[in-house]
Amino acid sequence: MNQPQPTLVADIAACRNDFPALNQDVNGHSLVYLDSAASAQQPLAVIEAVARYQNDDHANVHRGVHTLSHRATELYEGARDKLRKFVNAASRAEIVLTSGTTESINLVAQSYCRPTLRSGDQILITWLEHHSNIVPWQLVCEQTGAELIVAPINDRGEIELDELYALMTGPVKLLSLSHVSNALGTVNPLREIIDRAKKAGITVLIDGAQGVPHMTVDVQALDCDFYAFSGHKMFGPTGTGVLWGREALLEEMPPYKGGGDMILEVSFDNTVFNDLPYKFEAGTPNISGTIGLGAAVDYLQSVGMDNISEHEKALHEYLVDKLAGVNGIRLIGTARNQASVQSFMLNDIHPHDLGTIVDHQGIAIRTGHHCAMPVMQRFGLSGTARASLGLYNNTDDVDRLILALEKARQIFA
Ligand code: PLP
Repeated sequence: MNQPQPTLVADIAACRNDFPALNQDVNGHSLVYLDSAASAQQPLAVIEAVARYQNDDHANVHRGVHTLSHRATELYEGARDKLRKFVNAASRAEIVLTSGTTESINLVAQSYCRPTLRSGDQILITWLEHHSNIVPWQLVCEQTGAELIVAPINDRGEIELDELYALMTGPVKLLSLSHVSNALGTVNPLREIIDRAKKAGITVLIDGAQGVPHMTVDVQALDCDFYAFSGHKMFGPTGTGVLWGREALLEEMPPYKGGGDMILEVSFDNTVFNDLPYKFEAGTPNISGTIGLGAAVDYLQSVGMDNISEHEKALHEYLVDKLAGVNGIRLIGTARNQASVQSFMLNDIHPHDLGTIVDHQGIAIRTGHHCAMPVMQRFGLSGTARASLGLYNNTDDVDRLILALEKARQIFA
């Protein structure tokens, strides 16, 4: 019997052709890429923007009077302006360019928390978090004597909101949680959570690594204090990312790293730090990558974030439906609001074996703990298989995955 086809956004089908890496055979089969949550493929527009800079404009930024340096600076700072508009930051001073979400969160841990936290203070996170949103807080707790506390999740992979709110008491100075869980796809109800945290006087950081590639993000509407994200999950180059922070908070924070570009004046007696956002950007930055990230923003906006969300939601529903039809599948993560990530187990097949078998059929999925070991512990697992969708995926990709899983089931029967 034919399954009903989901209504996908028509123009998105054509986007697949924008991604050269998708047009290849892997292990004798055409590639099906279902690992965008780990790293998304890059459209030609991004690859060409980076190549153009490397070919014609390569020079250091902010430092030279010569033409190439001017061009490089214009392109680099132009990317910052695009990123500002993309997340609706109030000013470009609030867009700190980093190497990714991990660095952005570490920056807040070391620059915001380390100088201000004391023994008796608490940092609040949830069981859903990626290691990048756990370990930097453990480090700063060790350095300051503060305590890390964790709000639980339910069997669907949703934060237990009542318990989260009950933990928002006086000692909590910072709440840090993901926009979207990379392991389970749960989309957290940020507006409600941030409102409650603000009322309790708690500063809020959002780990947006899995948020920005899939939905419109407006940091002013969210009303959080920091929002961190990575370029390579939003079709940009690796080693790029952003920390958005409220200007008033960033102003108060000391620099995170010292070096060139983050200063106005240096003598052996005294150093005057540069203005925002440069105070946090020591050393030669990832110029080509950031220019590529600017091109990725252009690309996302040309497709339209609402179109992307709609397409991925329909495709995720199709994926869940199809997976449910495979004997022995157990879905891990069934939140009522879920983005385009689906973890699962197939009978008692080890996820790595499953990943290897489907790879032999040209299908790339992620297997393991997804850098979210506490999530795995919560479900009593050492790892899962995970399919994550991007704007370039379609129902054929899902059908190919299902066929490959059926094959794996037979091999292990
Ligand atoms: N947070 C989440 C939710 C993620 O999915 C990831 C990467 O998988 C990160 C943080 C870390 O991102 P990066 O390695 O780009 O710094």
